[in-house]
Amino acid sequence: FVNWWKRKNQDDKTTRSLKQPSDIRSEDIADGIEGLIGNTPLMRIKSLSDATGCEILGKAEFLNPGGSPKDRAALYMINEAENKKLIQPNIGCTIFEGTSGSTGISIAMIAKAKGYNAWIIMPDDQAKEKYQLLEKLGATVEKVKPASIVDKNQFVNLAKRRAEDFGKNKEKNKKKLIDGDDNYERENSIENNEATGFFTDQFENLANYLAHYQGTGPEIYRQTNGKIDALVTGAGTGGTIAGISRFLKPLIPSLKVILVDPPGSGLYNKVKHNVMYSPYEAEGTRTRHQVDTIVEGVGINRMTENFNMSTGMIDDAIRVTDEEAIAMARYLAKEEGLFIGSSSAINCVGCVRVARKLGPGHRIVTILCDSGQRHLTKFWNDEYLKQNNIYPKEEEGLNFIK
Ligand code: PMP
Repeated sequence: FVNWWKRKNQDDKTTRSLKQPSDIRSEDIADGIEGLIGNTPLMRIKSLSDATGCEILGKAEFLNPGGSPKDRAALYMINEAENKKLIQPNIGCTIFEGTSGSTGISIAMIAKAKGYNAWIIMPDDQAKEKYQLLEKLGATVEKVKPASIVDKNQFVNLAKRRAEDFGKNKEKNKKKLIDGDDNYERENSIENNEATGFFTDQFENLANYLAHYQGTGPEIYRQTNGKIDALVTGAGTGGTIAGISRFLKPLIPSLKVILVDPPGSGLYNKVKHNVMYSPYEAEGTRTRHQVDTIVEGVGINRMTENFNMSTGMIDDAIRVTDEEAIAMARYLAKEEGLFIGSSSAINCVGCVRVARKLGPGHRIVTILCDSGQRHLTKFWNDEYLKQNNIYPKEEEGLNFIK
């Protein structure tokens, strides 16, 4: 009888937990791919938490459908352009962006979902799988030589120009090029259902920041009940760090925000000494120094509108080497099957440094931006690393972090 009773009880529980069709609520079903963006889980990174005595929490942004937090920024920028009537679906409008990859992938995905074309311009030294993914998503991919932001063919500048030169607005755009950019919105707006070209401009477009101010930040607040001691993350456009910290800081005044920066980026010096100065004195995006190219998606040498929104919000900065990032990614894969990309890896190194400084018992939140799957041919490729004179070492525990 006891066994029968136990089984019955179990069956009842199982039946109760299964949803009957009439119980399925519309919020349980995502409306297309856009419906899967955001609301990512926060995970306790067990090995780092156990090793440091702090609770180290990673926002699993790699679970967005396009595989990174850039889905949020791309969706906000495209929605805003639609609301301003700068683009309209299914009439051949084309979205242009200059990107190191993640934003392009997000734009290509959302463009398909909504009825737009995507034209993505990228430096030619990024991991191969990013170009392949973009092509599979039907985007036009244009590769350019890495160049300084003052170069007219630098990937961001070229994306802007391509958008201006696009399609039926040629006549107007000619005029605009002569007159300057003042009337960008009016001159690019849709008239007579003409296809337009739109430059999303992730570095300067504050819809990027807003996606994190209205999405990622509130989600982290809810998921932690506002109990966080430090936020530790890197910046590419700055949208993520600015949006989250601007939302959280007024609600949690004791929160420390710490920027993690790769070698060759000027943001570390901007935070520490209020000067935008790169160790390699480069202009534009990170100097293409040998080992600098290994960590992708973060680090920049100019002030962007999105990073500027973090003014007064960032308390400190940490530099992380490529070697440390590589060792961290391998450590997490080995210790707990967490397979991350390069920008997530520098974030995790930053978390350990901050945990050591704060001491046990604190809660630290970071962003797990993308998966290692997007970095198989570079960051996760021992052959490639060898060619760049990097030989990942097996060290005891987290001893590779000095
Ligand atoms: N990680 C990856 C993989 C990225 O592509 C980017 C954006 N380029 C970032 C982090 C940085 O995010 P943000 O642009 O919001 O500063």
